[in-house]
Amino acid sequence: MYTIKSYVFPESLEEADELLHRDCRNNAVLGGCCWLKLGRRRIRWAIDLTRLGLDQIEVKDGFLELGACITLRQLETHPAVTARFDGLLGESVSHIVGVPFRNCATVGGSVFSRFGFSDLTCALLALDASVVLYRGGEVPLAEFMASPIAFDDILLKVRIKDDGRRAAYQSVRRSATDFPTLAVAVSCLDGRWKVSVGARPGRAVQAEEAARCLNDGRGPEAAGVAAGAELTFGTDLRAGADYRKKLAAVLVRRAAQTCIERENKG
Ligand SMILES: Cc1cc2nc3c(=O)[nH]c(=O)nc-3n(C[C@H](O)[C@H](O)[C@H](O)COP(=O)(O)OP(=O)(O)OC[C@H]3O[C@@H](n4cnc5c(N)ncnc54)[C@H](O)[C@@H]3O)c2cc1C
Repeated sequence: MYTIKSYVFPESLEEADELLHRDCRNNAVLGGCCWLKLGRRRIRWAIDLTRLGLDQIEVKDGFLELGACITLRQLETHPAVTARFDGLLGESVSHIVGVPFRNCATVGGSVFSRFGFSDLTCALLALDASVVLYRGGEVPLAEFMASPIAFDDILLKVRIKDDGRRAAYQSVRRSATDFPTLAVAVSCLDGRWKVSVGARPGRAVQAEEAARCLNDGRGPEAAGVAAGAELTFGTDLRAGADYRKKLAAVLVRRAAQTCIERENKG
């Protein structure tokens, strides 16, 4: 359980940033608090972003923009999200705990934390998303995922080019609502593929050789084998590295196959 000394609703992003930087180690930006409440932090200033207009889902200037405060459940239910990318984003989060939980957990808390097990960051990577940070500006998600975590900035929104690409998601869990043992997302636009693999158990990364296989027309089977060979996998209580490697080959193949079938159906 965490404790909070002062709970604040800043009236501007400038104020939120100023509060955070009074002491980044002891102050915290709040998402849905689903993860925070499992820890034992003693938070001096808890910074609630919910009055700063970051709860918007917008399609503008050719991008789908997801505000930091939107919930995982909104990714499953909002028409602007479900109608795009074959519902990839909603599908990716649909196995996380349960609906009441997903009504609380936010996009900001999920993406900023860069969890290795994250279903959402795996899906967003395959869409070439970027994050918009208060201090850091717009950063490609792949770059953000590769950077060390310092809780010294505020994630404002996630941006995804609204380019109509096809997509598919696959994950394997030991039980329905467990963390994923492995997660895979693929997307395809005009014959150019993106493949990402998460819960390795490290953070999601793009599988570039697997994407090359698909770009060159070598097919889902070859892409799966390539993903298993090019990425590193680790062992934890959910699975061994060898099992994850085999799983990656299967899930990449299945996801790519699904994408091709969707493309053929039109
Ligand atoms: C029991 C349990 C099971 C889970 N299972 C899965 C799973 O299977 N798959 C999966 O992908 N995820 C899973 N998650 C993670 C979950 O989906 C969320 O990603 C997680 O709860 C964080 O979201 P939150 O909104 O609750 O963030 P919080 O708990 O509020 O915050 C998490 C961290 O992010 C920081 N933060 C929050 N918002 C911002 C922001 N806008 N800018 C900067 N920093 C910010 C906070 O300061 C904090 O350090 C699970 C979580 C729990 C507790």
